[in-house]
Amino acid sequence: MYADIVVPVARGPFTFRIGEGAAGICPGMGIEVRLGARKRYMGIVWRLYDRPPGFATKTAGRLMGDAPLLTPAQMELWKWMAEYYMCTLGDVMRFAMPAALKPAGLTEEEFRRVEYRPATVRYVKLGPSVADAQALHVALEGLHRAKAQQAALLAFCAAFPDGGVGGGELPRSALSAPSVVLNKLEEKGIFSFFDREAAVGAEMPFDRAQVPLAPLSPAQTDALEEVRREFVSQDCVLLYGVTGSGKTELYMHLMADALARGKSVLYMMPEIAMTSQLVARVRSVFGSRVTLYHSRLGERRRAEIYRRLLASGGGELVLGVRSALFLPLPSFGLVIVDEEHDQSYKQAEPAPRYNARDCAVWMARRSGAKCLLASATPSIESYVNATGGKYGFVTLAERYGDGRLPRIAVSDSLRAFKRGERRLHFDKALLDRMAATLGSGRQVMLFQNRRGFAPWVECTQCGWVAHCPRCSVTLTYHKLGDRMKCHLCGYSSALPAACPRCGTLAPGLMGFGTEKVEEEVASLFPTARILRLDRDTAASPARYERIVADFERGEADVLVGTQMVTKGFDFPKLGLVGILHADNLLNYPDFRASERAYQTMTQVAGRAGRTDAGGEVVIQTMQPDHPVVRQVQSFDYEGMVRSQLVERSAFGYPPYGKLVVVNLRHRDERLLGAAAAWVAARMRTLFGERVYGPHPPVVDKIGGENYLEILLKIENGRSPARAKELLAEILKEAAGHGEYRRVFIFCDVDPQ
Ligand code: ADP
Ligand code: ZN
Ligand code: ZN
Repeated sequence: MYADIVVPVARGPFTFRIGEGAAGICPGMGIEVRLGARKRYMGIVWRLYDRPPGFATKTAGRLMGDAPLLTPAQMELWKWMAEYYMCTLGDVMRFAMPAALKPAGLTEEEFRRVEYRPATVRYVKLGPSVADAQALHVALEGLHRAKAQQAALLAFCAAFPDGGVGGGELPRSALSAPSVVLNKLEEKGIFSFFDREAAVGAEMPFDRAQVPLAPLSPAQTDALEEVRREFVSQDCVLLYGVTGSGKTELYMHLMADALARGKSVLYMMPEIAMTSQLVARVRSVFGSRVTLYHSRLGERRRAEIYRRLLASGGGELVLGVRSALFLPLPSFGLVIVDEEHDQSYKQAEPAPRYNARDCAVWMARRSGAKCLLASATPSIESYVNATGGKYGFVTLAERYGDGRLPRIAVSDSLRAFKRGERRLHFDKALLDRMAATLGSGRQVMLFQNRRGFAPWVECTQCGWVAHCPRCSVTLTYHKLGDRMKCHLCGYSSALPAACPRCGTLAPGLMGFGTEKVEEEVASLFPTARILRLDRDTAASPARYERIVADFERGEADVLVGTQMVTKGFDFPKLGLVGILHADNLLNYPDFRASERAYQTMTQVAGRAGRTDAGGEVVIQTMQPDHPVVRQVQSFDYEGMVRSQLVERSAFGYPPYGKLVVVNLRHRDERLLGAAAAWVAARMRTLFGERVYGPHPPVVDKIGGENYLEILLKIENGRSPARAKELLAEILKEAAGHGEYRRVFIFCDVDPQ
């Protein structure tokens, strides 16, 4: 017997002969294979056949485990992704499986030590000293001085009608108490712990919801009913609900529906939105059913989750980031893509360069599940799909409860400057509102799209600008540490005392990043307590959550931040949002810039006024009449879409066509240029006018490597699949070319 086997490397699949001792082999199983002289990998059996392939093959090793590691649905997803995103199955495998599940690149010796034990889950039940209700009562009383222990015990008891004395068991992870607390309870014989194989039916035990689903407002009820109705005939529905409309509560009801039918649910959100706020809300309703999946989990934990889901029969609720898409989902019934417009659903690097939102739509369609895309600022593509009838479309136009959409004022920074109505980087209009808001005891959030102190360092005499020697970007000056840093490659250097070109003046610190904003607020409002949220202050997820929690508890008056502050927060005391330099967002050279600017500003603005006290937003800009600024101000999402569609149709951009970017990368600029010209010429013979470039991308040098790109537009009506096939052939030719094969070439399908 022979098998095509997928190995987590960029090439393949590879054909192997299947030796003795591989009884029961079937597609989806893990199997040991050797590539090269000594490297051993776990591969996935992809296809089996009994006729020899007509070339020499090596023999594969032992099977790893006795059941497939991949469900048929996952195999279909991999196959579709590899084709659609123009990469190999090996590229998909590298990403799709937790590292701890797929030993790779090991020596024989190392591989032998890889064990295939089934994952276990730690459980807790009541211990020997609480045998009955009476004893439980005594134990609870006895803990009145140890509040944390008492709370942990109560949380356990709350999950069972009899408090757990009848032998109730909960996964350890269902109790949020820290280990020290649980260990003490174990010492006292109140809790006892044991491991259980996460095998078939490792279904969570009875788990009473601690909090019932919230009753919905009339508008929410209507929207929910509409979504359900649309789902009768549509696989995918777009929920367009303004910020603060309570979309999360709608998801809860839909998830409960699916779980009650024994289906599994995937609830996807951008990484940064996986904050305690939202997770706590979902957990409060679904308790230990909830499985979290994000980048902070260790590889072991990821592998455990993967195996547990693989063995489960259904009824799972996974809350995760884009990579959660690759988990096995038994009886898959519903996927929710929250903030579906978010750029972070697209993996830019490395392959597979997939968009998790689009994959979710495909998966739902393929497996008869339902997909809900939701956003207050849907992507134009999704909006067009929804209004064009491809998806269902449901609108939730009002905020929940007493919340009102904030009032948005626009301040003309240039005019403020001319009139002397500006202090440091703040227009008077914003300063006045800040003073009033802080004076009334409410909080202020300030958004500035750049971190650091000064985004560029320039000689005001001769115009010299500090650039990264390895990347085509300016160096940002950071006051903390007193250095100029490259945000792409991490290069840093000291601030020169004199201009390296003309040598006369100390270089000027130009522009303003969050660090400078923080400093200016401190000087303008000396008594205000300020927090800053950006990649410098929130270097770790723990620090990130800490800053958010502190601000939420009112331990600061002003929060200064980058993009990080735009995502889904609900701060009850927030009265004012300031957008400091909207022009940064408006002037980006990309066909999506206006859409993005609208989304970012609307999302930041949407943090204000989520309670009855109302809220305000001030946008500072040099272009107060820019159409996007006007549209943000009047919440005119449709207007933004309309004007963008006019532009996009004129240039054949999505949704009027599909884009594939061919990226080329090499240190040697001359070789790169020659290879790119050659590829572009070959492409032109097939696609003619629809090929653009080669041209350098906005950032055309990173870490010493030069970049060029060639754009292919595939108009609606032409087959993207066929175009990709032809393109793939050209790239194969390039890979076989004597000289150009040294250039690294990859395709980005549906680039963001
Ligand atoms: P969105 O995600 O649409 O911006 P959220 O889901 O964050 O809005 O809801 C906004 C606020 O309103 C939250 O504080 C949420 O708890 C509250 N809320 C929304 N719907 C309900 C409801 N049905 N019952 C109680 N509170 C609600
Ligand atoms: Zn100079
Ligand atoms: Zn750099």
